[in-house]
Amino acid sequence: MPQSKFIIDAMLGNVAKKLRLLGYDSKYFADIDDNKLVDIARKEDRIIISRDVELSRRAKKIGLDVILVTSQDEVEMFRDIVIHANLEISKINGDDARCPKCNYITTLTDKRTIKEKIPEKVYQVNDKFWICDNCNQVYWEGTHIENLQEFVNKINETT
Ligand SMILES: [Zn+2]
Repeated sequence: MPQSKFIIDAMLGNVAKKLRLLGYDSKYFADIDDNKLVDIARKEDRIIISRDVELSRRAKKIGLDVILVTSQDEVEMFRDIVIHANLEISKINGDDARCPKCNYITTLTDKRTIKEKIPEKVYQVNDKFWICDNCNQVYWEGTHIENLQEFVNKINETT
């Protein structure tokens, strides 16, 4: 299971979603005060991911681990994160994935119990379903996992 934990600054919601699907505990707040963000990072031993140079400087000054994102390109941005935090990403595993919405752990579930929650067609063609322990959102290895796998392959090709 992935070990590094993150706290992700505003405007980088997509990074948070991807890291969660990859199994990394990633807190994200669309709107968060710098002091609060630094405080959470310190208390919970989280790596900060931010575009904010000033915040990055402040956090580093008190010994926090910060990844200052500079690229606008998502693959490049992610590659910086992967290298900095020494992450191992290759094959997306649904069992490791956290809920992209709320960051909670998801549990493999008997598909019969969630039949009413998903489209009939999805139910027919998939066998594995995960449910978020917190927000009850149901996930399956659909297109978003495929797209993320492609994205991860791109990163690995260039690392
Ligand atoms: Zn959730």
